[in-house]
Amino acid sequence: MDRLALNVAGLLQETSGTSRRLEIKGFLPRWDGISLVAPIEGAIELVRAGKGIVVRSDLQAAIELTCCRCLDAFAADVLVQFEEMYYPLVDLATGMALRLEYDDIDPEFLIENVDQFDLSDAVRQHIEISQPLMPRCQPECLGICPECGADRNSSLCTCVEETPDIRMAPIQEMLRQMERERTA
Ligand SMILES: [Zn+2]
Ligand SMILES: [Zn+2]
Repeated sequence: MDRLALNVAGLLQETSGTSRRLEIKGFLPRWDGISLVAPIEGAIELVRAGKGIVVRSDLQAAIELTCCRCLDAFAADVLVQFEEMYYPLVDLATGMALRLEYDDIDPEFLIENVDQFDLSDAVRQHIEISQPLMPRCQPECLGICPECGADRNSSLCTCVEETPDIRMAPIQEMLRQMERERTA
């Protein structure tokens, strides 16, 4: 299953407050820039409200990321949880277009096709914004040694880190003091 297309034609004709809960299994789309390591699963709840439908997503995805420190690939869980109000383009009872009434509504939240209400893109966007800018395989990832290139999480290299010499501290403080006086 590479799309998350739901039929909401029936629900739109129900009274406000009617809800449906759909178990989602095996949703495995191909998306550029997102590499899923397992199918997306969980539940979608749809609640009829006003002239539209409230969509509550409670899905879980597992994506592959590249650690920004050691450059290893690792899997990370992403919770796809959102709640959005969606409006149909057409009033099913009258067959009249509803679009003009909703000029202030983001076109992203319109139901274009009530038999194939596709939430794939909403899920993709949610995963996209949940991806960390600087992914780390573990909070304390030691990264790669700049000297020998060894992954310092798995091997102990013998390269010596340049650490600031504590004996230089008083001299550095004196230099900073001189700098402050010069610019004062
Ligand atoms: Zn790492
Ligand atoms: Zn090294």
